[in-house]
This record gives sequence, C-alpha cells and structure tokens, in this order.
Amino acid sequence: MLRSAIENSLLFRDVDPDLLLETLAKCPAKNIAKGEILIEPGKQNDTVYFLVAGHLTIHIDKQDGPAIRIVSPGETVGELSLIGSTKTSAWVLGSDHCQVIAINQETLWGLINRATKIARNLLKIISGWIVSGNRQAVVTRKQIEELEGIARVDGLTGIYNRRSFDEAFQRLLTRCQYNKLPLSLIIIDADHFKKYNDSQGHLAGDQALITLAQVLTEATRPGDIAARYGGEEFAVILPETPPEVAIKVAERIRISVMNREIRMTNGKPLPSLTVSMGVGSIRRGATPQSVIKEADDHLYMAKAGGRNRVCHLVINDSAS
Ligand code: GH3
Ligand code: MG
Ligand code: MG
Repeated sequence: MLRSAIENSLLFRDVDPDLLLETLAKCPAKNIAKGEILIEPGKQNDTVYFLVAGHLTIHIDKQDGPAIRIVSPGETVGELSLIGSTKTSAWVLGSDHCQVIAINQETLWGLINRATKIARNLLKIISGWIVSGNRQAVVTRKQIEELEGIARVDGLTGIYNRRSFDEAFQRLLTRCQYNKLPLSLIIIDADHFKKYNDSQGHLAGDQALITLAQVLTEATRPGDIAARYGGEEFAVILPETPPEVAIKVAERIRISVMNREIRMTNGKPLPSLTVSMGVGSIRRGATPQSVIKEADDHLYMAKAGGRNRVCHLVINDSAS
C-alpha cells in the first residue's frame, strides 16, 4: 500500500523509492477515523502528513462547510509547514477511515538534502496553488525564494532559475572553449510587458510568462539550458552551437511565441505576446560577461529597432 501511495505522489515524484520506503518506515503512522480532525486552522504545525490509505477532506471557512479539496492516497497535507513557521489555514478531516504517515520537519529536510527533487516538486505544488488562486497558498515570497534556491528552478515557470543559469553558463562556456567548440546565448525579453500586466492583470501576466517558458522548453534541445533570467527576461544557452544556428533557433522562438495561445487556468483566452531577442556567441578571449554583454547589446538593439525581432552580429563579420 505504501509503495503504491509513493508511486502516486506528486511530492515524491522521481525520488528513489528505496530511500523513501526506508525513511517513511521510521516515521509514525496514524489512523484517522471518519470525521476526525487531523489539522485545524491557526495552529503551529511542523508535520507533513502523507496519506497512505483512505481520503481526507480540506475545509476552509467552517469545519462542516463544503470541502475545497479531497485528498487521495499519495497526496500530502501540511506541506507549508516545511518552509517556515506558517500557521495552518484549514481543517483537514478524515472522510473515511485513513492511514497517514507523519513526517516531521527534520525528517523532510533530511530527505530533501538527499533528493533535491522533493524541493522542486514542492515548488510545483505551491506554484499550482498560486496560479489557481487557492487560498491555501499563504506563502511568502521569501519562503518561495528559499525553495527556489534549493530546487534550482523558478517557482513560477518551473524552468531553471538565475542561479542555475549562472552555474551552467560558466561550466558550459569553459567546456566549449577548452574543446574549441562554439557556444551561443540568446537573451529574450517580453515586449511591453508592463502594459500587458496593466491591461490584463498580474495573474494573466504570470500565465503569459508560464507559456513563454513552455515555448522555450519546446524550442530547445535536451542539452540546451532555458532559464528565467529575471522578471520577464529569459535566457537560452546553446552549447556547441555557432551563431548562425542560434539565430535560427531565436527566430523559431520568436514566431512560436507570437503564434502561441495564452489562456488563464479557467480557459479564458488572453492576448498573445511578442519577444525581442539578442544573440551572443563565444569569440576569442570570451568570458561569461562578454557573451552576456554581446547578447544584451543586441537585445537593446532589437528593442530600439521596434521589438518582436532578433538582433545579432553580422555573420562572417571580421570580429567573429
Ligand atoms: P520592453 O518592451 O521595453 O521590455 O517593455 P516592458 O514593459 O516589458 O519592460 P519594463 O521593464 O518596463 O517592465 C517589465 C514588467 O514585467 C514590469 C514587471 O511588473 C513585469 N514582471 C516582472 N516579473 C513579473 C512576474 O513574475 N509576473 C508578472 N505578472 N509580471 C512581471
Ligand atoms: Mg520587457
Ligand atoms: Mg526587461
């Protein structure tokens, strides 16, 4: 039963099942009767409950009010307690006879240290709540940043964060220079994004950024690194890729973004976006800063030239 709950778990997805079985076996198991309270609001909680059997219901306003969510085996409740001293915000009750495993904060952090994938999964769970406007998401920016640091991914879009980008860029640049291979960088910035937020709302802006990140992931190969560089700016590292190929990739991204439908989670259609892009590549004596500067300068030219375009050095330029 425990093994099948682990297989269905979002929090533990892609984590070594043996590590989980070994750890969870040491945690106390608890039986919850139908109608029994597992969590009530306003309490300090330092435990994540992993549901092994039965179902739980979550109620926000009143204990006997409608359930906002039914929790099935493999799901967890109390995840927020992991990332700080958040007080509980809902009632969690047994809907039928249940078995849960109580994982305390220390054990969960121990697991995360051995499997950072858990932090990544947790970020995904929390981003899902935020995007769906769920009131459970009483998460502070600081708590998300803490998780992002560990998970190396951006909490909103699920792609690599700036820290991962910096590390990967340094590593890939050194490797390509050593092997005398090309490397290119594309910096991508959403056009008039402030206006998009102002006219459509910040949540719509968030959906647009999520969609943009999806396009970047689809447009790149497995060895490439697509990352959120900051705000509405993204970067793609293309190792072993000369500028003329990077320009084609950038152009493909530009067209895909322009034609990609953006929707709210409730299906409401939103206006599409355009992006401006700058391409930089390794030249003699290149450093991470010099490649970023070249891409940035070209991005600036793309903006100044009217946006929704890719700028780059003229190929076969004497400097290349
Ligand atoms: P330009 O075409 O020159 O790039 O104009 P812009 O409006 O895109 O540039 P500006 O730097 O003036 O504005 C960027 C906007 O991006 C402002 C900021 O609120 C928004 N933004 C940054 N991060 C996020 C985010 O995570 N979500 C949302 N919804 N908006 C964001
Ligand atoms: Mg912009
Ligand atoms: Mg910008």
